[in-house]
Amino acid sequence: MKHYGHFIGGEWISSTDTIDSINPASAKTWATFAAGDAQTADHAIKTAHAAFTNEWREFNPEQRADVIDRLATALETHWESLVAAEVSDNGKRIAEVRGQFAGLHTWFRHFANEARNMTPEAQTNGVPGVESTLHHLPYGVVVAITPWNSPLMILAWKLAPALAAGNTVVVKPSEMASASTLEFAKLAFEAGVPAGVLNVVTGYGHTVGEALVRHPLTRKVTFTGSDFGGRKVAEAAANGVVPCVLELGGKSAQVVFADADLDNTVNGILSGIFLSNGQTCVAGSRLIVEKTIKNALTQRLLDVAGGLRLGDPMDAETQIGPLANEAHLRKVTEMVATAQSEGARCLLDGRETAQGHEGYYFGPTIFDGVTQNMQLWREEVFGPVLAITSFETEAEAVSLANDSDYGLAGGVWTQDPRKGARVAAQIDAGTVYVNHYRSVDPNVPIGGIKLSGYGRELGPNAIKDFLQTKSIWIGSAPVAVPFP
Ligand code: NAD
Repeated sequence: MKHYGHFIGGEWISSTDTIDSINPASAKTWATFAAGDAQTADHAIKTAHAAFTNEWREFNPEQRADVIDRLATALETHWESLVAAEVSDNGKRIAEVRGQFAGLHTWFRHFANEARNMTPEAQTNGVPGVESTLHHLPYGVVVAITPWNSPLMILAWKLAPALAAGNTVVVKPSEMASASTLEFAKLAFEAGVPAGVLNVVTGYGHTVGEALVRHPLTRKVTFTGSDFGGRKVAEAAANGVVPCVLELGGKSAQVVFADADLDNTVNGILSGIFLSNGQTCVAGSRLIVEKTIKNALTQRLLDVAGGLRLGDPMDAETQIGPLANEAHLRKVTEMVATAQSEGARCLLDGRETAQGHEGYYFGPTIFDGVTQNMQLWREEVFGPVLAITSFETEAEAVSLANDSDYGLAGGVWTQDPRKGARVAAQIDAGTVYVNHYRSVDPNVPIGGIKLSGYGRELGPNAIKDFLQTKSIWIGSAPVAVPFP
């Protein structure tokens, strides 16, 4: 059994209050995390603030880039040592975790290079005899709050640009899955990230998480999680007039036209919904398919999804691992029961395929006849449950896709490029893929609209989003100041 403390100022800080991390594949506790409180939050934020005002502020962009590069090199060499911690915590399949971790260093390299290439911007003004200059300054202490589904990759998207911009960071990973973040923080410290620049506090969101957001020295918050958690964080941040980025949930639509390449589409729909057992924010959970091909596409989805192998997430051959925790299994089970009671037709029942498996297993599930008033259409399951409906006209397809309180992602499948572009432009979402699904790249922003949140991560403005501008006006000679 592993016992993790908080990682603050380059030191492990233990706690008498702890949280069990239960391995979802076995339903057995494999580690404990410290359960932080307001005092822990105060210590972490003050430590990060001291690092910001002393050593870290003296680093120029080139020196920060060197530190981030050293961290990238450490990750490139040692990423494999972090894998087991994440699989044990959240039950994500080892093949997926390896895929994410083998590329973790690239996010850091990218933003180290961006920091090196930041050039001062010229500023002009129309006031005679007065020059103005534009400065980009880090916020100071940034609080980064992450969910349990992909803790380390999501952290990399926040941390790399935040550090490149010159901030210091306090991370609050999910109470369900903190181990990989803690192991990573230790690795970063050993690689040369100065003490206090990256700190990790563990515990519950409504206690230590909220205390971090409310702390008077917190200057910016970046949050990824549910819309419920996002609202709480935004309320707490508003109290201190602290800006936040909210990356929240989704109910993403996959629109399939009759002229789509079906082989490609079947793969896209299946990986869109069943990767990570449906526990991804961009999960394409609503399939909106042209009526003439609905039966053929549904049958092909059932043929593949029905044969996916459930198993131990540590086994590289496993295709479907467990759900991340018991409460989540209960929630998914209840939502599937509600879908049935509301009249949706269950074509593939993940409760049946999960029978006989220890741990929190739930197999791929497919519903037909899902209507817009049903819970399954409106609410995020965050599990392996696909809702199918059909359309007859393009306008109807767009209208169905946009009938959601969320707006994170969407997919369009057609071999007509003009139709693909036209429909993608009309779908209300932060990201839309055409004949493709789920790519991420440091140059391309991600984020949502409506209940999926606000602000963006990654993309060309990722570092700037962690900087504030300051204008300085300098009169070269006595200049008349208009009065009154
Ligand atoms: P969650 O909202 O329950 O928790 C996320 C994090 O917020 C955890 O660290 C939690 O402890 C913390 N938290 C909760 N309440 C808080 C509060 N009042 N103050 C401060 N911190 C608080 O979400 P989850 O169940 O861990 O993650 C699943 C959700 O995350 C899904 O809705 C999923 O769609 C979303 N998600 C979104 C993205 C994206 O990029 N948009 C990516 C991954 C996951």
